[in-house]
Amino acid sequence: MLPSLLGLTKEELVAQLAEHEQPSYRADQILDWVWKKRPASIEEMSNLPKPLREHLQTHFSLYPLTPARELGSTDTTRKMLFKLHDGRYIESVLIPANPALYGGRADRLTLCVSSQVGCAYACKFCASGLAGFTRNLSAAEIAAQVLQTEMLAKDRIDNLVFMGMGEPLANSKNLMQAIELITSPWGLNLGARHLTISTSGLVPQIRELARHPRQIRLAISLHGATDAVRDQIMPVNKKFPTAELFEALRDWNSNKKQHLTLEYILIEGVNDGLDQARILATHARSLQAKVNLIPYNTVEGLPWKRPEISHCQAFRNILSNAGVTATLRLEKGHDIEAACGQLRLIQETEEGIISPVERKA
Ligand code: SAH
Repeated sequence: MLPSLLGLTKEELVAQLAEHEQPSYRADQILDWVWKKRPASIEEMSNLPKPLREHLQTHFSLYPLTPARELGSTDTTRKMLFKLHDGRYIESVLIPANPALYGGRADRLTLCVSSQVGCAYACKFCASGLAGFTRNLSAAEIAAQVLQTEMLAKDRIDNLVFMGMGEPLANSKNLMQAIELITSPWGLNLGARHLTISTSGLVPQIRELARHPRQIRLAISLHGATDAVRDQIMPVNKKFPTAELFEALRDWNSNKKQHLTLEYILIEGVNDGLDQARILATHARSLQAKVNLIPYNTVEGLPWKRPEISHCQAFRNILSNAGVTATLRLEKGHDIEAACGQLRLIQETEEGIISPVERKA
């Protein structure tokens, strides 16, 4: 399988072309085709000399993803299924008119991007880790989710959240290359402030990201305010307990202007005690972080339930009364299994691509 042209930074492309005695302005022309004009094939890059087009065709592919299917939710969320060159599948979720939860403007298009096929972190409540980890996505496969969804939706995406399948910071080399493709003026030219990376709490990578020159936003999947609660549902907490995590977040704050977001799923009888709300409030205040409360989304095969809405509100009120900005997030895309934690490994059978939603019907 040929590598995708989409995976190269401008610098890398210039270097490639120099090896073939091509002037560097050819790199600008190629990047303009790839990221702006978006042709169907390399053949269509009409201002490149034919021998160069032929050279590119023998060494590179163009788009790394094949759109396989699109599911639309009654709430206007759309789930894009893409096939990868090795026959595996990933999903990206397009969420219109998202309220300004991650610092972006409201009434915009947000894309939820996957970073891995499967996930190794095995959070007890999440569908993505149920079938384990398969592989990292390449930088081209990550960035192409944005480019190719824009092509399918015929619209411009404003915000990205790295909250699809996988743990983005466990694939940080490819993620950072993808972020360069996404934020560079010659690439997708999206402002880094419109990008939010979500992590289950990988401390060394958080510290590294705190030193990244671009002003990317960070969200932490906390889901427990103490080790006793977090240990029960997130195995990663054994490796990076809350004290170490909060220390890394203080380090983030001393390097970055962007306020942190703490994500907190509410699972009945597991982490929704009001004592947890009080401890969470203390941490959020000291970190100057806002809190996103997410009533648990059902995952088939898992026993967890969401608390009554009145209980979720009581939990939120403790945070608000303590002076913490807290939102109780309304789910998107629950009916098409596109909501947080519902993306799972998709397999192809003789009957075609079968998703858990269809299997139930
Ligand atoms: N691995 C990263 C990126 C995935 S983000 C991370 O953990 O942050 C997906 C978000 O959905 C995370 O906050 C995750 O904890 C949350 N989530 C997982 N399962 C969920 C469920 N069943 N209901 C609601 N949110 C869930």
